[in-house]
Amino acid sequence: MAITDKIYIKNHQQIASQLETSFPKGAFKGATLDILFQGENLAKLDEATQDRVLDFATDFMDCDCEANPHCGHPEEKFVRYLLDLRAQGLGPDAVVDVMGDDYMLYAYPGDVLSFLDGAVRTLEAVETLADVDGRSDAASDARQKREQLL
Ligand SMILES: [Zn+2]
Repeated sequence: MAITDKIYIKNHQQIASQLETSFPKGAFKGATLDILFQGENLAKLDEATQDRVLDFATDFMDCDCEANPHCGHPEEKFVRYLLDLRAQGLGPDAVVDVMGDDYMLYAYPGDVLSFLDGAVRTLEAVETLADVDGRSDAASDARQKREQLL
């Protein structure tokens, strides 16, 4: 499972009751994206929640793809957001705190930790392959990115 399958809406219960409808807890579930980002539903949310949902939409769902928000870009952008937080020196618990403040989302720190470990291992593999191929630019690029995550 991708990390984006393990990102949840923090005040899910409260939002569901404001919208008078049920939707999955997972932030990136298709039904969640559809329900939360309909204009008329958005208007039913209290202001603080609306702000967070709008921030989320602006930051992760702003592509022009026809299939938006189901084009995969929101997930990709969110993964980049997580890696950026890590590159800024945040540990898994702090990453979870920040996504809560920014977007009212949460994840289990253990899931964030394994995601970050996985990213480091992927970059290691890229680095090794690029070295073997004699592509030293790609290798040092991967090394740099990996070092940012450590
Ligand atoms: Zn897209």
